[in-house]
Amino acid sequence: MASPTTLRSRRISLQIIALVVSVAGVVGVKATSLIYPYFFCPASPGAVAACPIWMIEHGVLEYHRGFGAVFALIGYLLGLFILIGAIFGRGACGWACPVGFFQDVMKHLRTTPLKNVKPIHVFLISIALILPAMAYSSMALGYLATVGFYLLIALGVHTTLKRERVVGGALLVLLGALLVALTLLLQRGIIEPYRIHPRPLAYLTSIEFTGFTGLISLLTGISSIAILKYRERRGDPFRLRMGGKERLARPVKYFILLSIAPLSYVTGTLAFTDVDPVGGLVATLPTLFYQPELWRGNPTFFWIKAFNTALFVALSITVYRGWCRYLCPLGALWAPFNRTSLFRVEYNPKRCIDCNLCIKACPMGLDPRKQVNTAECIMCGKCVEVCPTDALVLKLGRRRLSRPSPRADLILKRYEEVKGGGSR
Ligand code: SF4
Ligand code: SF4
Repeated sequence: MASPTTLRSRRISLQIIALVVSVAGVVGVKATSLIYPYFFCPASPGAVAACPIWMIEHGVLEYHRGFGAVFALIGYLLGLFILIGAIFGRGACGWACPVGFFQDVMKHLRTTPLKNVKPIHVFLISIALILPAMAYSSMALGYLATVGFYLLIALGVHTTLKRERVVGGALLVLLGALLVALTLLLQRGIIEPYRIHPRPLAYLTSIEFTGFTGLISLLTGISSIAILKYRERRGDPFRLRMGGKERLARPVKYFILLSIAPLSYVTGTLAFTDVDPVGGLVATLPTLFYQPELWRGNPTFFWIKAFNTALFVALSITVYRGWCRYLCPLGALWAPFNRTSLFRVEYNPKRCIDCNLCIKACPMGLDPRKQVNTAECIMCGKCVEVCPTDALVLKLGRRRLSRPSPRADLILKRYEEVKGGGSR
């Protein structure tokens, strides 16, 4: 194994750094016109840079400024796309993207036993993070409250799918149902929306806040329980492999990417950003926690975005890296660069002992021996981490990034001895 701890800790460190950078606006870092190589909603109060998809939409919508401005923007975009793609390919998906990190965390909630963590402690921490935002309006407190809300969701998912106790999902369903019912009462005017002080009441009487958090809790709870029941009968859908329906579903992300510019042009809207679930997670929810009483926006897009966000969270706990596999237009954008990018995984069949550990580890459901560096590979290096004989190696150009395993040659020698003995 290629020093798995080192590779894994490097990847997790980079993912955390990218996440912190992406919300640096929370502590007052000014927004720049730099483009992230990963997906993050520029409408987020914490965003300090622009998402490429948002730039494409603006390029289309600002055609009235004249071809010069549009060509300059497209030139800037294309230049950066090609530069980032040529160096990293889809590596940013595996190593930097906060959305990918979110899905990795969901995977661990499902599969890693958190033995020393008591559910009641997580619950109390969540409440402690949420309460300050209820008393005082601040963007930073809004983000902390958002983290608290996600911790509650995570607690429900982990309790249901790892500890196999329906109660976690059931509590999420109950919370979600109460919030959705309250939203309906507010929408119909049976309860008067109360958008002023005292501040805590603004949450319970904000249609957008109750609806948004309610939908996420409800769909996450329902899907957790449904997966638990499904698993008992038909196995876990989480590690779907490439082939069959998977092969048909994966091109959807290319259709989404190709439709963004024409749809923005025809509708005159930010066709993807207005409804995208990532914006819901990193922009809409922190904004609602920050100022629920002041939220203003297009109500039609708001509810589509709320549904999409809830579906995104449900997909994240149903299929490992489901968003990256089927829907992410940015992944689709970097995918064609994978074959030629400097950052890549190399496979040496002469060192392979057919142990299949790499297939089990791949979050994208690939067979790394045949499909590494293809358009579906996110260059995460998880196959490299588990390969016992260094048949898979992570590289940047000619430079090897994964350290050689001290036992690789010994394991390979033993394997060849056993194989040779068997064939005699
Ligand atoms: S083939 Fe390897 S590098 Fe590519 S996605 Fe799968 S585990 Fe990650
Ligand atoms: S590439 Fe490595 S992990 Fe994959 S089957 Fe071969 S020896 Fe096993």
